[in-house]
Amino acid sequence: MKPAYKKVLLKLSGEALMGDQAFGISSEVIASYARQIKEVVELGVEVAIVIGGGNIFRGLSGAEQGVDRVTGDHMGMLATVINSLALQNSLEQIGVQTRVQTAIEMPKIAEPFIKRKAQRHLEKGRVVIFGAGTGNPYFTTDTAAALRAIEMNADAVVKATKVDGIYDMDPVKYPEAKKYERVTYTEVLNKDLKVMDATAISLCRENNLPIIVFDSLTEGNIKKVAMGENIGTTVVE
Ligand code: UDP
Repeated sequence: MKPAYKKVLLKLSGEALMGDQAFGISSEVIASYARQIKEVVELGVEVAIVIGGGNIFRGLSGAEQGVDRVTGDHMGMLATVINSLALQNSLEQIGVQTRVQTAIEMPKIAEPFIKRKAQRHLEKGRVVIFGAGTGNPYFTTDTAAALRAIEMNADAVVKATKVDGIYDMDPVKYPEAKKYERVTYTEVLNKDLKVMDATAISLCRENNLPIIVFDSLTEGNIKKVAMGENIGTTVVE
């Protein structure tokens, strides 16, 4: 069986990295991510990654506590770099070659984002982790994921969450909530379904980039998605 995709952009949530901790990075969750990513690389799929920062800092939450929004967003983007380095470390510990590229230059720690260089790394089978989001305040790492996916010419954005797909209502609050197998970008926007923010969804819609939402905390699921198994929800035209 051949994988369903040649190249994917995997979006990992910062928040899920906490595991059952209140803050920071759970060594079990990050190790599980690394093992799951390795399986996908071994299928011959090119893997690019954007990781969030919500386990450390979010600009919006900071603003509620009096931190200037732009400063808070800078702090949030730095948080994604911390997570990127942690993931790089876990991947390299199990023999996966990686490069971190950041949207805000910090050449002592990582390469700056250079599209052609990133593509070259992917062609060589290295996992490329994009840190610091888009490099701009007022954006999210979901938008960064959509943007980098388009730039890298990926076949899909694969969004790892704690839920196993997209529902018509919050499945935690409403047990009668129904899961979508497929849903359109327009429906997601019109019904305000909680998948990604509207900027990210619009970017995917304009560029016809499918989004696959699935539960990444069950080990082995990232590989299942890469093989085309229908375990989550797909957002398409
Ligand atoms: N952020 C930003 N610009 C970007 C991406 C992220 O300013 O292009 C900041 C923003 O403050 C955000 C934080 O980084 O709250 C962490 O990212 P996000 O909330 O998307 O992480 P996740 O929810 O996936 O953990």
